[in-house]
Amino acid sequence: MKPKRAIATEQIHHPYQPPEGWAAMPVGVFKASTVLFKDTADLHTYRPRDGQSYRYGLHGTPTSYTLAARLATLEGAEHCLLTPSGLSAVTLVSLGLLSPGDEVLIPDNVYGQNRHLCTGFLPRLGISHRVYDPLDVPAFEAMLGEKTRLVWLEAAGSITLEFPDLVGLIRACKARGITTALDNTWGAGVAFQPFDLLPDREPGFGVDISMQALTKYPSGGADVLMGAVYTREQALHDRLNDCHEHLGYGLGQNDVELVLRGLPTLELRYRAQDASTRQLARWMQAQPQVAQVLHPALPGSPGHAHWCELSRGGAACLFSAVFQPQYTAAQVDAFVDALELFGIGYSWAGPMSLAVPYNMSRSRSLALPYAAGHIVRFALGLESADDLQADLAQALRRLG
Ligand SMILES: *Cc1c(COP(=O)(O)O)cnc(C)c1O
Repeated sequence: MKPKRAIATEQIHHPYQPPEGWAAMPVGVFKASTVLFKDTADLHTYRPRDGQSYRYGLHGTPTSYTLAARLATLEGAEHCLLTPSGLSAVTLVSLGLLSPGDEVLIPDNVYGQNRHLCTGFLPRLGISHRVYDPLDVPAFEAMLGEKTRLVWLEAAGSITLEFPDLVGLIRACKARGITTALDNTWGAGVAFQPFDLLPDREPGFGVDISMQALTKYPSGGADVLMGAVYTREQALHDRLNDCHEHLGYGLGQNDVELVLRGLPTLELRYRAQDASTRQLARWMQAQPQVAQVLHPALPGSPGHAHWCELSRGGAACLFSAVFQPQYTAAQVDAFVDALELFGIGYSWAGPMSLAVPYNMSRSRSLALPYAAGHIVRFALGLESADDLQADLAQALRRLG
């Protein structure tokens, strides 16, 4: 027996090693800042990015590499970079690809914080932006110019949920060598395959980059913030990976574990929430207090035909209701306050249903895709659709 060392020394340099051959379905949670090398030769011969070796916890551990690999499969991508939030995934794409003098185009219904990045931060780097109508491909095409380096896409768009002509928009960019990036949080790899939008007609036709807020479906628990950026092309991945290292994006491996735990049930949750969302969207459309319901799978909703063309049947957990114009913002707020099962708060795809009234006049540059009226966005959770419908009914009765 070796001579006894001090308690702290023994607890740090303990000889016990877990036995080889351990097998279980869940992946181990490997946490590290320091990654230990076997010896100095190992240290000196380390080659970054061969997908097998590790240098420092910030760049990944077996746990996060496993999550990245599973997500890449889900999205139909070759590469996946994990980021600490959905917003940081958006930022990674824009900072990774844009330089002073460049212009980025965003759809008018882009995720609000992406617009905020374009208006509040990118100008400091000499990067300009313009806003396009996601439903007007000819007008979009006319905006593409010498300076246009990156085009953001979103399907369906935030809050108003128009489903754009993704194929038309991407074709216009491809013809000019402009990089496309899709915020695919809504599709989640279930509704359609962003790198393979026309698998029967044109295999491999799709976006250059996809990103997701893993905060939504992949987590599913309303308890994790995380994002992902996906690519097929090696050179594009390398460029984004460089930026990822420069920004120092790291992840807590317990959060990575939670997302890994959510993945096996992702499609089940997606389809279950989708089914109750369609039930409630159709029901709301029939209520006299409601002027219009926005949901890409509903005939008459903006971009419905484009959704039909691409979708493998998925339509997520969101719909928005536009109230009749006689109801004031205060009355619509009171309706939301009267809901008992819907929480009031941001995010979606978690277990609890949520409702948020939006003031659209402050957040858009172009005309809205609906007539006048105040709008509430609903995100359905996993409660029974009938209970949720009864809750909506009692709050609508109070609205009168
Ligand atoms: C939530 C969301 C994001 C941002 O994700 P966070 O993890 O909250 O930063 C980005 N895009 C879309 C479409 C989202 O819904």
